[in-house]
Amino acid sequence: MKKAELALREEIIARCREMNSSGINQGTSGNISVRFEDKMLISPSAIPYDQMTPEMIASVGLEDTSGRYEGPLKPSTEWRFHQKLLRGRPDAGAVVHAHPTYCTTLAIARKEIPSCHYMIAAFGGNNVRCAGYATFGSEELSELAIDAMTDRTACLLANHGMIAIGETLAKAMWRAIELETIAKQYYLSLAIGGPVLLSDAAIDDTHRGFAGYGLQDDAGKEKPKPKPRAAKKPAAKAAAAKTAAAKKPATKATASTKPAAKTAAARKSAAKAATAKKPAAKAATARKPAAKKPAAKAAAAKKPAAAKKPSASKK
Ligand SMILES: [Zn+2]
Repeated sequence: MKKAELALREEIIARCREMNSSGINQGTSGNISVRFEDKMLISPSAIPYDQMTPEMIASVGLEDTSGRYEGPLKPSTEWRFHQKLLRGRPDAGAVVHAHPTYCTTLAIARKEIPSCHYMIAAFGGNNVRCAGYATFGSEELSELAIDAMTDRTACLLANHGMIAIGETLAKAMWRAIELETIAKQYYLSLAIGGPVLLSDAAIDDTHRGFAGYGLQDDAGKEKPKPKPRAAKKPAAKAAAAKTAAAKKPATKATASTKPAAKTAAARKSAAKAATAKKPAAKAATARKPAAKKPAAKAAAAKKPAAAKKPSASKK
């Protein structure tokens, strides 16, 4: 075995264990793959991470969809979407899949994660979509996942979990943990009346900021970026976020209409429609604060549950 391959196998094991230590994993449901030459190295099915050794990591040809593998153990049952992502996305050098609690909770409710925090930009756009449901391990699930990840580096999987990709495994893991963090924050914001979403302009500004910081690159690999820019960015970002927050009240309707869109084109028009709808949403939110203010704590506690129901019925 080549040294480089052995190193990757060892890293897969270390990152599997990191899934446990970071709290994003449940049992052995999480799995990890890495591109190596013309194949993928992938964690085996149903083996506790502390018992995993480098030889146990399965190897599957990137172009071989027959299910053939090399290794003493079967690859993860989700090898199909791992393979499809590594094959079809040049920006994917590694894939992390898990069932972290908050990501999965949102996915059970079939909610995408909207632009509730500037860190949403770490996933390539202004939201993280929730792919439709299909049986675990199925070809259909892999297709739904690929579609939901169009122009994105992560997605939720309905009633299942999440996927994150990265140029390297370090970056894919960083994203997986960030995704669970933002999922938790979004979930909690829903419980206190719903988020105020950031505008597309604010997210665009964040993308530019990330480029300046080198935040999207591996901590270890990234060469130092010009420093003067970094000093300026936070202020600009904060200002942009403030403007966005002031301009754009929560648009719950907007967020929940998006997941329905299937194709990239449909998504674009959905986004346009959403933008067109926004002024109307303003009127709705204008009512909200008035309704909330006099409300006592008990009333506020009742509200989220009542407010959340309608979106669940949207299919
Ligand atoms: Zn899974």
